[in-house]
Amino acid sequence: MRARDPGSQIPVLFAAPRVGLRDPRPGLAGLTPEAMLTWLSEHGQPAYRARQVADHVWSGRAASFDDLRTLPAAVRADLSAAFRMDTLVDTLVRQADGGLTEKALHHLDDGRTIESVLMRYPARGPRRERATLCISSQAGCAVGCPFCATGELGFWRDLETAEIVDQARFWRRHLAREGRRVTNIVFMGMGEPMLNTDRVLAAASLLSDARAFGLGARHITISTSGVIPGIEVLTGLRPQYTLAVSLHAARPALRDLLVPLNRRYPFERVVDAATDYADVTGRRITYEIVMIAGINDTPADAAATAELLRGRLAHVNLIPMNPVAHTPWQPSSPERIEAFATTLRNVGLHTTVRRNRGMDIGAACGQLAAELAGSPAPDAVARRRSLLVDRSAAALRAAGDGVGA
Ligand code: SAH
Ligand code: SF4
Repeated sequence: MRARDPGSQIPVLFAAPRVGLRDPRPGLAGLTPEAMLTWLSEHGQPAYRARQVADHVWSGRAASFDDLRTLPAAVRADLSAAFRMDTLVDTLVRQADGGLTEKALHHLDDGRTIESVLMRYPARGPRRERATLCISSQAGCAVGCPFCATGELGFWRDLETAEIVDQARFWRRHLAREGRRVTNIVFMGMGEPMLNTDRVLAAASLLSDARAFGLGARHITISTSGVIPGIEVLTGLRPQYTLAVSLHAARPALRDLLVPLNRRYPFERVVDAATDYADVTGRRITYEIVMIAGINDTPADAAATAELLRGRLAHVNLIPMNPVAHTPWQPSSPERIEAFATTLRNVGLHTTVRRNRGMDIGAACGQLAAELAGSPAPDAVARRRSLLVDRSAAALRAAGDGVGA
């Protein structure tokens, strides 16, 4: 057992937003096809009505219950008394990268805001064009990774199943106008999916159900900062989703700092749990490393990562850190990232470098919501910055590496 200094969490910067009462009606899109069938039969409706409702909900044509013209008015009224057609009350869209990246800020019924991002990849050679949608699983996040804008916000609440799938319905409607569709969905927006496991798995199941959203399970990625019980639940279900693990460091003291959950679920055990998932499903695990200059991009980090992952069914994604307003850190240089990638490739690990998207619209996880949460107190920002500088210097010393190596 390693000795671990639990330390105190890096403080969050923003006060939780003022919120209103929740609408007690669940979102219609959160219902499984079976639950819809049961509800209709309890309301004296034949089974084929379920198909009619589903067609409207999932094709994106229905904006309100009034649009369900194939249904009798009384059923429409009952449905609208019991459910909400859309849990996203209002959405603001911003564009970047000449329209290739679009970011939505969704307002929920209680006044909280969450984000989703659409990234378009034009066709290249034999590769067809893609539209990857990044969705949120929680409003805020409790894990508190210090390089992440959502981590700075703190935790507000879990999202309902419908609030998760309604993000995908929003973008389906948006893309349908230009004859396009969502080809991939990644749970890499705000929140830790595996700390809202039941709802995230219910949402993923609806997104991959041919009777609902209908995207193939292999086109869905669930990203976790390393919640082992959640990974185990997923493994038990043997789905075909891609599992992504946010590794960020393969040296204990440094990972304790970058992903505070490491104190509870150390990365060696996380990687073992992810390897079980790969063994059971045959699906390659994606390991993500946000590259932060002078912090986790050193040759020692590359060597530790190579040692940890070599021989495993793994793909490593190196992501230059998207600068977040209140950290003292910067993205690694392209040369550092390339050198890191080479060390991994030399031990046979499939490694890619992700290009940052939508930096001008704050498209990193939680950035827009943080921007709109207002300006944090300057002394709180200064305290946080100096705490991070001290902690990272201590973590690098404990990791046995010279600062600035
Ligand atoms: N909570 C989950 C999923 C949401 S975060 C997780 O951590 O895996 C999704 C990804 O965005 C993670 O890999 C996270 O490390 C990355 N991310 C967060 N802040 C970032 C930043 N400032 N720059 C680049 N990537 C960031
Ligand atoms: Fe939460 Fe993921 Fe951000 Fe860490 S990186 S604070 S786990 S959303």
